[in-house]
Amino acid sequence: MKQGQGLPVFPGVAIGPAVVYRKSERIQPVSCGNPEIEQKKFDDARETARQQLQNLYDKAVAELGEEKGAIIEVQMLMLDDLDYLEAVAASISDGAAAATAALDCGEEFAQVFAALDDEYMKARSADIRDLSQRIYDILCGNTGFQLPEGSFLLVAEDLAPSETIQLPRERILAFITRQGSSSSHTAILARTLNIPSLVQSDIALDDAENCTVLAVDGFTGKWYADPDEQTMAMLKAKQAEAAADRAALEAYRGKESITKSGKKVLLCANIGCPEDAEAAVAADAEGVGLMRSEFLYLGRDTLPTEDELFEAYKKVAQIMGDRPVVIRTLDIGADKQVSYMGLEHEENPALGLRGLRICLTREEIFRPQLRAIYRASAFGNLSIMFPMVASVWELKKAKALCAEIQQELIREGVPAKEVPIGVMVETPAAAVLAHELAKEAAFFSVGTNDLTQYTLAVDRQNAKLGEFYDPYHPALMALLAHIAKSANEAGIWAGICGELGADPKLTETFVKMGYTELSMAPGRILGTRKLVCESEV
Ligand code: PEP
Ligand code: MG
Repeated sequence: MKQGQGLPVFPGVAIGPAVVYRKSERIQPVSCGNPEIEQKKFDDARETARQQLQNLYDKAVAELGEEKGAIIEVQMLMLDDLDYLEAVAASISDGAAAATAALDCGEEFAQVFAALDDEYMKARSADIRDLSQRIYDILCGNTGFQLPEGSFLLVAEDLAPSETIQLPRERILAFITRQGSSSSHTAILARTLNIPSLVQSDIALDDAENCTVLAVDGFTGKWYADPDEQTMAMLKAKQAEAAADRAALEAYRGKESITKSGKKVLLCANIGCPEDAEAAVAADAEGVGLMRSEFLYLGRDTLPTEDELFEAYKKVAQIMGDRPVVIRTLDIGADKQVSYMGLEHEENPALGLRGLRICLTREEIFRPQLRAIYRASAFGNLSIMFPMVASVWELKKAKALCAEIQQELIREGVPAKEVPIGVMVETPAAAVLAHELAKEAAFFSVGTNDLTQYTLAVDRQNAKLGEFYDPYHPALMALLAHIAKSANEAGIWAGICGELGADPKLTETFVKMGYTELSMAPGRILGTRKLVCESEV
């Protein structure tokens, strides 16, 4: 038996086979020195890309109809674009590696298309980037996920959101990563899935790969490879105890979340995709306090269409019925990257073009999303929330676009309800200006994961900074109190949807501060309700 330690991010015990995910080693594209060979490599990769696209096309047509297949057909046509092929050939004969030529020429063409006036042609720039990235990946051997059948514990160096989105969630018993932090997206996903998980673990990928049974104790943060009999008995006992604790919390199902002195708190779920809304209902959530829309954009090759987004939001609205649903608009950027949007490499992405900033500068991305939300508004109780707001003008500009889109839909004869528009308070600027923003916002929901990172200037992704990432820091508590006070004075509600919202040590403090909504992983709801109901506040 081998054993070690990690930082637990969700309690529980998991036992099963291990699957190790290794990122495909990125081969640096270097020319072999012979342009003819490089050209042949490019030609072969182009044929592989054609085959991949054909498969994708067949799948899209079979599952979604001809219209969806057309998006892929466009890329197949681009594979034969003479201008692109000539540019690549010229670059290769000038000494470039096939992969570099494919990617760089794709980027040049994408920029030319993006500068055109015609909206259709503009939109094709994403297709060109996507296609050249595909050829690049083929040439560099980037193959993505390959997982076996059955349930397993997933072990990895680290997992990006674009990687976790491709996972068969129902088959994962636990995550163990060597990197990551307690507010990283792997940790957030583990909590959403209710599975015990460790980040910053000392497990060697080879040890995980070579063991028959791997076990994780999400209470202590320990992992065991091929546990001995005694350890196995201890883990099984803990598993049974955890099941009994969960069963005891069932007494709070269907109860109102109200303190002894009568303060009502809405306990909502954080979700990433429409299927999570079912988990939210099963967990007795009183609403959805945060739908992380960007998960609809991750793990795919093209932008989702307005119709695809509409179907996703409509499904959530219908599943939740009368219960409120807060949809956060796209929060791409920083750790959540998508290649097809063609966002430039940034030295400091956490402070870069992300969240609402992308939406305000790339209206062609924002509009379809807003139209989809307004169209779905007729099917439930939806609100919109903007991430990464730092200034009042950003909120005003985004709200103006919402009003324009609502009117546009009404003119088209599409029912579009009045949708409350709120602010995700996650920059220190928004927190300090809460009293000003409260004049324009219908509600606040505090993103404590980012608010901690930006207030303390500590990268939430950096495992080495763990002791400095202190969500209980007095500066943060002062901001949280100010946000709630500003909201209360303006007569709007304030909630917390960052990971701190489910922290049992702070539930009472938040209620005292004046927060009336807490949004969290579905599995945390009944436990938090118990705390609220037992609170004297
Ligand atoms: C947050 O920042 O607290 C938050 C809820 O958003 P995300 O974790 O998706 O950045
Ligand atoms: Mg955030």
